[in-house]
Amino acid sequence: MEINKTIDGLTLKAQSIKNKNGEYVITGKLSGEVEVECVKCLTPFKKHIEEDVKFKVVKPPYDGFDEEYDIIEQEKLDIDDIIKSEIESIKADFSNVCENCKDKEFNKEF
Ligand SMILES: [Zn+2]
Repeated sequence: MEINKTIDGLTLKAQSIKNKNGEYVITGKLSGEVEVECVKCLTPFKKHIEEDVKFKVVKPPYDGFDEEYDIIEQEKLDIDDIIKSEIESIKADFSNVCENCKDKEFNKEF
């Protein structure tokens, strides 16, 4: 199945394949711009996202381990939910620092 979905500025373009265990294997790319908050001055800014993703959607409870894929536990495949939780984790990233604060740090060091 071809996935091409955008939620809140973040686009998931990917291929999903159902494997013999009934799990969905999703490989593709996340791209777009997500509004995040600077961890230093709390100013919102747009963060450019461009990353390759490999998800495996499994039915809970899952007690396995996978080195290659990010495991997502879902009763039923829900692409919207996957993108939304990616947005949440991008927003929760402690390395979200705006250009202004980056400049300040740069000047401090030199
Ligand atoms: Zn800042």
